[in-house]
Amino acid sequence: MEKVALVKCDSYQISQVEEAIAHVFSFLGGIDTFIKPGMNVLIKPNLLMKKKPEEAATTHPSIVEAIAKKVVSLGANVIIADSPGVLKAEYHFRMNNTKDFSDLLVDICECVKPGISIMDAIEAMEGEGPSSGTPRHLGFILGSVNPYALDIAASRLIGLSSNQVFTIVRASERGLVSQLQQIEILGEDIESSSVKDFKLPVVFRDIQFFKSSVLKFLVNYLKPRPVFQYDRCTGCRDCANHCPPKVISFKDNRPVVDLKKCIRCFCCQELCLQKAVEIKKPWLTRKFFWHH
Ligand code: SF4
Ligand code: SF4
Repeated sequence: MEKVALVKCDSYQISQVEEAIAHVFSFLGGIDTFIKPGMNVLIKPNLLMKKKPEEAATTHPSIVEAIAKKVVSLGANVIIADSPGVLKAEYHFRMNNTKDFSDLLVDICECVKPGISIMDAIEAMEGEGPSSGTPRHLGFILGSVNPYALDIAASRLIGLSSNQVFTIVRASERGLVSQLQQIEILGEDIESSSVKDFKLPVVFRDIQFFKSSVLKFLVNYLKPRPVFQYDRCTGCRDCANHCPPKVISFKDNRPVVDLKKCIRCFCCQELCLQKAVEIKKPWLTRKFFWHH
């Protein structure tokens, strides 16, 4: 049976984080079952982009510090690294349907085989994540040896069911994880800890809608699209440089997208430091199909 530790931690104060991380490890059998003296240990925080810790887009440095200290205290060596974002954009381009992209993420996870996965859910991000949303205090740190079980518990924490998250669906279909009911949650009670009004991204809600809709032939016209907010745009061209199919051009130093060729990966929104890319639903979708 997969185990997930769910530990309360209300702030990023280092002593509090260290205590919570110690609890996570002890729920999972003790850190010395994973780390041996002399081992090289890679810690991969989420370093999505250059953001301040309080913006909640990246793993908070206190979490990385607490884990690194613990590893070093056992006589192991620490390496801290993340994968370059440009690879993700390339993968989006090559696999621009949700199922293939989810399969690819599961494949990468199976290839890397993380020894233990820790989730910083002290300040989560709701709304237009992963970078343009709003911090939302949840006050938890989670950990598991099984990364998919960790995602199942984290999804439940924000009121999502497992079948709404494509990577979990694919991992489950591939026999890599059980259902929530079969996962042992150690520490806090997941149901009473779960947040009922966590705001989801526009894109996520619409993917759910289109997945179940019989109107698939209209999808390209109805799908949400990136819209540039020129009052915030500085013309830095990061969006165009990272757009996988290269469909953003510039007119008078303002980005313009060719929507017929846009694959709706939303890398442009994810990467824009000025929050100058918003994801909007077309008028037809708002008027007739969506009432949120
Ligand atoms: S990344 Fe943002 S600020 Fe830079 S050009 Fe694109 S929309 Fe404008
Ligand atoms: S314009 Fe934005 S959403 Fe469209 S393909 Fe380029 S990066 Fe992706």
